[in-house]
Amino acid sequence: MALESAMNKGKLADLENEEIPKHISKTDKLALHKDPKLCPVCTAKIEKIGKGTRRKNQCASCNAVLAKELKCTRCGTNRVWRGAKGKYCHGCGHAQT
Ligand SMILES: [Zn+2]
Ligand SMILES: [Zn+2]
Repeated sequence: MALESAMNKGKLADLENEEIPKHISKTDKLALHKDPKLCPVCTAKIEKIGKGTRRKNQCASCNAVLAKELKCTRCGTNRVWRGAKGKYCHGCGHAQT
């Protein structure tokens, strides 16, 4: 079936895009933490809210949440996420101490 094979192809392409290279530089690591599509703490994909383009301020993978009261020590914005693995700024990807 032509339609089915096309769908399988799409799935494979998605998987390839999600794969994270093993040899990533420090800059690329920061890029992962500030990617709006990814959780800044564990870099897992963040679910979208319903049909819209907005994403939840919460990670289903590591339970990290946006800590609105925290300010990033690097860029000064209130986009710091707090999770079990630490605190990371979603604006610049910087790990908070
Ligand atoms: Zn996470
Ligand atoms: Zn920041």
